[in-house]
Amino acid sequence: MQRQIEVGVLGATGMVGQHFVKFLQGHPWFKLTWVGASDRSAGKKYREATSWRLAGAMPEAVADLQVEECKPGNAPKIVFSATDASVATEIEQAFAKAGHTVVSNSRNHRMDSDVPLLVPEINAGHLGILARQKQARGWPGQIVTNPNCSTIVLTMALGPLKQFGIRRVLATTMQAISGAGYPGVPSMDINANVIPFIGGEEEKMEQETQKILGDYVDGALRDMDARVSAHCNRVPVVDGHLVATSVELGSKVKVDDLIRAFESFRAIPQERKLPSAPARPVIYMAEKDRPQPRRDAERENGMACFVGRVRECPVLDFKFLALGHNTVRGAAGAAVLNAELMCSEGLIQ
Ligand code: NAP
Repeated sequence: MQRQIEVGVLGATGMVGQHFVKFLQGHPWFKLTWVGASDRSAGKKYREATSWRLAGAMPEAVADLQVEECKPGNAPKIVFSATDASVATEIEQAFAKAGHTVVSNSRNHRMDSDVPLLVPEINAGHLGILARQKQARGWPGQIVTNPNCSTIVLTMALGPLKQFGIRRVLATTMQAISGAGYPGVPSMDINANVIPFIGGEEEKMEQETQKILGDYVDGALRDMDARVSAHCNRVPVVDGHLVATSVELGSKVKVDDLIRAFESFRAIPQERKLPSAPARPVIYMAEKDRPQPRRDAERENGMACFVGRVRECPVLDFKFLALGHNTVRGAAGAAVLNAELMCSEGLIQ
């Protein structure tokens, strides 16, 4: 890429917004020049409007930017969205109507039939639906989304197994507290405890997985023909969602075939060497007690999915553990990789 593309972040003062600001620091293609938030923050410097909660200092280049209202006008052509879900629908649509590419983390448009729910290693072909989005909505701009933070871990692990015909999936999550934003779950509830409920999470995991692992056929997105059941739990871990997964497959394969599929898996982001793509999207760990959130989630800049304990399952065919960094690969990093893929496809200039 010859020149850096200017980008903005909607909801830049919030938890996910801060992860965008941090992740975009030093990005070779994208330069963050615009930050938006509510009218409570608009008009203030980013450093004054934001209660910075991430490790490391607030990037200096962003600290002095003035926070704008989330209205199109002087915003860059590409905006990453981390706005509150209660307002994301209207805000994202207003930007797409005004000709912006909205690369969103919010759930609002994920399940729309003309909006790609992208995991670049798994379903880059789903970008084809943008032609229908343009036609149906009449927007000069566009909206693409990334999945929920637990769904992304599950789909990255299931992607390499799609060739064997996925029939049924049972996924039980152990989700980090950072996934609940700030202040998140009260410490009195989560310390030395497990909370076996995360509102709306199981439904999102089940529906989003079907869409992501489905196909783009005849100008439409078709869900995967498989059943997915999720149990979602919040555990006292800071970062990293672990997903205990059992899967039934349509082909007669062995444990070694699955391990080979995980180890050899590469996709478009790796072939094109996109800046945020991990060299290997799925990393198989042979040790009997890995992956572990504290030891593994941060590796590969938090962008890979770690898989281990692949073994036969007496109920479905196979079972394994999958781990991913929920605020990096599960949020800001996912959206930035989506934008990189779109640039490499010529969908953003
Ligand atoms: P948050 O910390 O509460 O931040 C919300 C952001 O939205 C703030 O910047 C806030 O600005 C802004 N905002 C609130 N009301 C607004 C309005 N009326 N107009 C414009 N901006 C407004 O929330 P969060 O935890 O970062 O979550 C942000 C979004 O990301 C949500 O949609 C959530 O569902 C999604 N999310 C996605 C994932 C994922 O996909 N992996 C994970 C977590 C969250 P002020 O500071 O000015 O109030």
